[in-house]
Amino acid sequence: MSESNLFGETIEEAEPAEAALAPVGPFAAVALEASIDKTLDYQIPKQLISTLQVGQRVRVPLGRNNKPSKGYVVAISPTTEYPKIKPLISIDDPRVLVGPKLMTLARWISRYYVAPLGTVLDSVIPSAVKKRVGRSHVSRVRLLMPREQVQEMLEKTKAPKRRAILARILQVPEGEAVDLLHLAGEAGSTPATIRKLAAAGVIDIKSEIEPPKSAVEVADPIVAFDAPPLNGDQQKVMDELSPRMTSNTFSTNLLLGVTGSGKTEIYLRCIKQVVEQGRQALVLVPEIALTPQTVRRFTQRFANVAVLHSGLSQGQRHRFWQQILTGHAQVVVGARSAIFAPVPNLGLIVVDEEHESSYKQDTAPRYNARDVSIKRAQLEESPIILGSATPSLETFHRARPVGSALADQNGERSARADPTSDNRFLLRLPNRVRGLAMPKVELIDMKQEGRYRKGVHLLSQRLEKLLHDTLAAKQQAILLLNRRGYSNFVYCASCQDPLHCKFCDATMTYHRTAGAHARGSTSHEGKHTGQLHCHYCLAVNPLPEKCPTCGKKLSLFGLGTQRVEEEIQQKFPQMKFARVDSDTMRSGKDYEALLAKFAAGEVQVLLGTQMIAKGLDYPNVTLVGVISGDTALALPDFRAAERTFQLITQVAGRAGRGDAPGRVVLQTFMPDDPTIQFAIKQDFDGFAATELGHRREIGLPPFARMVRIIIRDQDQEKLIQRAEELAAALNEAIDVLGSQLSMKGPMPCPISRIAGYFRHQIVLSSSTAGELQRVLASLRQAKALAKSDRIAVDVDPVSLL
Ligand code: ADP
Ligand code: ZN
Repeated sequence: MSESNLFGETIEEAEPAEAALAPVGPFAAVALEASIDKTLDYQIPKQLISTLQVGQRVRVPLGRNNKPSKGYVVAISPTTEYPKIKPLISIDDPRVLVGPKLMTLARWISRYYVAPLGTVLDSVIPSAVKKRVGRSHVSRVRLLMPREQVQEMLEKTKAPKRRAILARILQVPEGEAVDLLHLAGEAGSTPATIRKLAAAGVIDIKSEIEPPKSAVEVADPIVAFDAPPLNGDQQKVMDELSPRMTSNTFSTNLLLGVTGSGKTEIYLRCIKQVVEQGRQALVLVPEIALTPQTVRRFTQRFANVAVLHSGLSQGQRHRFWQQILTGHAQVVVGARSAIFAPVPNLGLIVVDEEHESSYKQDTAPRYNARDVSIKRAQLEESPIILGSATPSLETFHRARPVGSALADQNGERSARADPTSDNRFLLRLPNRVRGLAMPKVELIDMKQEGRYRKGVHLLSQRLEKLLHDTLAAKQQAILLLNRRGYSNFVYCASCQDPLHCKFCDATMTYHRTAGAHARGSTSHEGKHTGQLHCHYCLAVNPLPEKCPTCGKKLSLFGLGTQRVEEEIQQKFPQMKFARVDSDTMRSGKDYEALLAKFAAGEVQVLLGTQMIAKGLDYPNVTLVGVISGDTALALPDFRAAERTFQLITQVAGRAGRGDAPGRVVLQTFMPDDPTIQFAIKQDFDGFAATELGHRREIGLPPFARMVRIIIRDQDQEKLIQRAEELAAALNEAIDVLGSQLSMKGPMPCPISRIAGYFRHQIVLSSSTAGELQRVLASLRQAKALAKSDRIAVDVDPVSLL
């Protein structure tokens, strides 16, 4: 059936209705904050067409109930393919929160790390900015009329308050503005009275964002600082880097410098060049390194440094963001998320301690800030400097010339067939500054130690002696044990089983209650007051008197910082020392306060977890003791050796940074382990060559790219079913795409249950990232990865537990 319409045309019955209702463009593609893995199109209402922009936060109707939901405009286009289009509700914030370059970066992260774009944008924009916390507006008053006219008006005016206002305004220098509240105060009047002058066209009042008082919220004033003259090695590195700082082209520069070789000085000089061109620099450091000591090195050299640390208030965060956006902050220093700082004219990115696994975020989007930095530098055509004494093997391999066994010359350049290789450089600082020696590392075989000494000793005789000597010489020491608590095995000899967490596939760690004194012994003889903690789900239980299964005696095995603390208290009752771990250091402020005491010499010895292995530069530290070099070696993770080498080398690097030479004692039960041997020699190149050899043989990163998919469920059967389904979908995609990638699993994760959730994993690897991306994209399209609360995709995982 058909009928004529007004214009006498005949049309099919069903179509006119649709055609008439077909929404009129333009349309906005919106990425929702609710983690929906696609963007949705919305019609832009007429009154918003002229104001709506890409990068704004908007409100849109979502779902059957049209629930108002927040999202970001990511594109605007004249057409849409979506049939049932709804209109956008409103613009939530008129500001463009994500500029074009950051938007491109966000899209890349969403693709590469398999995360919804809305979730990525949520990480890119600080919540303080979204919520507009403490954004202070000020009203600024400017003269509109010519001065002579105002002068005349003043002379004619009788009202004293109005006279006072006019007189005060006339004192404001030509072209400048004055704060409305100040003006009111000074004139003894009210803002309302002043606004009457605006209505009369005498003045103009504009609301502006409060101008930055100072970007630096650090106590000390910015003092003129004499940079030390560069030494020969540093000069060579600078000579090579300098032209790249001004060329506005992308390059990656790995600065491999031993601990205390003056890498930071190189960063500072490079930043200076960039700032002098009116551009900004972004500096990423691990969160724990954001101590006043590090921060000061930047704030002393540059006038406007925005330091983004976890202790900032929401208001401060928002202010910094504004100042960064306007280009007011010359340098931005911060941890992981600082990579999203909206600097307008990026000239350089520095990633210090680039090997740190804290650059990887462990919730969606699971990005690695180091790799995102490289991508950002590429998009912005700027250089990036990656610095470390122990670079990750990925970074090292990428920067290393192929062919030559190892580059050991300054500035040796990668000469791969890879077309991108001509902008990758490796620079070296092989020596410490001021001719200081590298610390001498002594190995202590703890198996031998046990033979000649009665009882259990966590400190070897040698370490005890050196501690005595160090204290006698009024020098300081750092003792590392990378494990919290008192003992990590509460063992029943009769059941032959350590106590496990009820919710996790993990043993419980015994934590002594502060102040309680237990006798140091492996047997459970004295009274132990304390609790059992699970380090995975954070469950806490009292320590049972007896084995809950058989009622026999429990023994405490395995070491933790508390146990070392107890031994130190017994052996060195006079020593002023502090334990540093996440149990004692509840906030950054605690840690800063302690470091201040350490700097002043009020604390002689720091005993702690990896927190103390990083970045500390105290010249009076001459002794470093590694209580156990083995804690990380046995972990079921292919990076166990790499982590062990890095940790030992980094903590060793804290010794001998002043004029007195440094000593390191490395205690181990595995003296022949090759990693321990390389660590003693602090031989990064040797370690890397050996380890890269192994990795190449078995096809592990950096010779392969890896993606780990973790599936979890409280119900074990459902878990297995879901994992099998996912594996089948993967196999099909691999088949259809004719992909070469290899798939392992589904199999239980090394920690097969956490917080009541059973965990299975599938590990994909391939020689190229593109191959993995293709397969993941096809699965994503088919919504096989959509259950974000049950399925986590971890691209380039840093931990396999
Ligand atoms: P890294 O970052 O490689 O560990 P730093 O940059 O922290 O090394 O340098 C270690 C110490 O040496 C710092 O106190 C720094 O001020 C100082 N320093 C750096 N370069 C020089 C130099 N050329 N001459 C003298 N001291 C220097
Ligand atoms: Zn647990």
